[in-house]
Amino acid sequence: MYAVISDIHGNLEALQAVMEDLPEGVERVFCLGDIIGYGASPNECADLVREAGMPTISGNHDLAVTDLATNLEWFNPVAAAAVSWTREILSDENAEFLRERPRMMQTKGALFVHGSIRDPDEYIINRVSAQENLAILKSEYDGVPICFFGHTHVKAVSPAPLDASLEEDRALDLSDGGPYLLNPGSVGQPRDGDTFASYVLVEPAESANGVVPGPLVAYRFVEYDIEKAQSKIREAGLPNMLAERLAAGR
Ligand code: ZN
Repeated sequence: MYAVISDIHGNLEALQAVMEDLPEGVERVFCLGDIIGYGASPNECADLVREAGMPTISGNHDLAVTDLATNLEWFNPVAAAAVSWTREILSDENAEFLRERPRMMQTKGALFVHGSIRDPDEYIINRVSAQENLAILKSEYDGVPICFFGHTHVKAVSPAPLDASLEEDRALDLSDGGPYLLNPGSVGQPRDGDTFASYVLVEPAESANGVVPGPLVAYRFVEYDIEKAQSKIREAGLPNMLAERLAAGR
């Protein structure tokens, strides 16, 4: 069994709560990027991901902070302020680590991207973008039953499985009807109205005759100390809106 987490965004309280929630038997934790940006604990989060040996990819915020050539005009003013603040505080070691992650990872049974398969900065937010990326998954990654993506901070599975409700701990059987795109939700800044940290546990299926069926996937929803994360954001002098949105899940 392995876990997939995404979009930590410098929220150490949320990340620690997720790590404590991991059940026994989790062999690896894959991270879909955006470890930093927005939250007040970028170094602590990058240290934790690095020291835990998580396979991780770079998200757009990881690169915006660590690649000084990034044009911040692409970011809204609040995100740009967070990028500038994080640049000041991030250690050289963490900057190098985040900058040098791949933009995509692949195992025998899964693909891992930040935004989408065709573009790490694309938001998969509707049926059209999901269908277009599913077509790429089928044609260019033949036999890969699932692609995990982040970036939107919204939990999602496409195509919707027969039992479409994304309730905690309900195992989604994705062995048929795939391939699938799946967003585990955000650890550190959810934007789907839920305030808890979200991630998924994945039980890969045994391959049969060289074919890897899709896995069993279960969402985990983890409460954490939101007020502590908020007060650290305010103390750091980051935009207040970044603290407020944690309590709204937006
Ligand atoms: Zn993000």
